[in-house]
Amino acid sequence: MRRSRFLLFVSLLIIILTGTGCITKLPRHTTAPRDQTVILVSFDGCRHDYPDSTFTPALDEMAKTGVRASLQTVFPSKTFPNHLTLVTGLYPAHHGIIANTIYDAQNDRWYKLSNGAPTDSSWYHGEPIWATAERQGIRTATFFWPGSEASFAGYRPTYWREYDGSVPFDERVSQVLKWLDLPPGERPRFISLYFEQPDKSGHAHGPQAAETLTAVRQVDSQLAKLWEGIKVRHLADGVNVIVVSDHGMTALSRDSVIFLDDYINMQDVQMIDWSPVAAIRPKAHKTDAVYLALKNAHPRLHVYRKGELPARYHYNDNAFIQPIIAVADLHWTITTRDYFDKNPKVATGGTHGYDPAYHDMDGIFYAAGPAVKHLKETESFQNLDVYNLMCRILHIKPAQNDGDDDISRKILKSE
Ligand SMILES: [Zn+2]
Repeated sequence: MRRSRFLLFVSLLIIILTGTGCITKLPRHTTAPRDQTVILVSFDGCRHDYPDSTFTPALDEMAKTGVRASLQTVFPSKTFPNHLTLVTGLYPAHHGIIANTIYDAQNDRWYKLSNGAPTDSSWYHGEPIWATAERQGIRTATFFWPGSEASFAGYRPTYWREYDGSVPFDERVSQVLKWLDLPPGERPRFISLYFEQPDKSGHAHGPQAAETLTAVRQVDSQLAKLWEGIKVRHLADGVNVIVVSDHGMTALSRDSVIFLDDYINMQDVQMIDWSPVAAIRPKAHKTDAVYLALKNAHPRLHVYRKGELPARYHYNDNAFIQPIIAVADLHWTITTRDYFDKNPKVATGGTHGYDPAYHDMDGIFYAAGPAVKHLKETESFQNLDVYNLMCRILHIKPAQNDGDDDISRKILKSE
């Protein structure tokens, strides 16, 4: 008798806890753990320490209620390679976007931000989070993200925009909130939101310049609007926000310049990319001579043949990596005398692209929401792992990738 009463009690408890009974007292807007939403926000070029140098109440609140870390980039610490890594969990050599400018010599075609190539799916490998989600029946939306205009194996976000940097930041946040207002069957559960700042100001004025920190406050205020919109919609128990940046920033100087034409005849090479990672394509039969001329030419320039870059760069295994790669030390610029003399802005302000081992190249990571523990801070980790983290929150199976699950286990609540 006592045993059957106990079983009845347990059955009732299960009905209440799983919400299958009619006597559930869970609040109206409770979202099941399997139906969580992820909003992935990028503050382009926001160095890991910028938020400590200015007023960022929205980011501070996320650290207080969730977690903050500095985020290690992958080589090269440039915008497109790292944005693609964030959403695929793959090294650039594996997702295909090995630089912002790529040359496919065999087919004589270029990937440039200005020539429409970013919409051409043949440049991309692997699977971004929106394709992983759509393939598994989850709607997604992107208000800009590098690579989001291309189709991956036929999958695109349900809602996406052609990139237009002139769209005001306010309008981007408003559209994200409008997507959250859609009825459940149409509402996306993964949304990306991209801001060009503080990268733009960081390049023009240098890290820590007043203009750069103003830009940090500007994007933080957009983040505040996003959270406010989530709260007034009573969606805070179902929406997780992850704020990242693709890389950091370091100051340049006209005194720290490497002139390639001091060592080689520029007629002997085709320059695919310049600084701080030069991708050099020597003309026929010139590869050995150019390599030997540059190899020990400048103490601040590290010169490698394709296939011989340090293993930690994970930058050998891609058809479009050029025969010679030259990497400058932090703060240093690679150029030619003529270009330097004619362009007074060269080697001023700030830039990125350097070895990810430099702390200045680290970006930001903040996450808060119902799936995230209240840890405040955790040690830095690789941006490769953000893809798996988002898949775990969305309860979808990740595609094969180069990241691991350590950070997911550390910062996500177990169900
Ligand atoms: Zn960037």
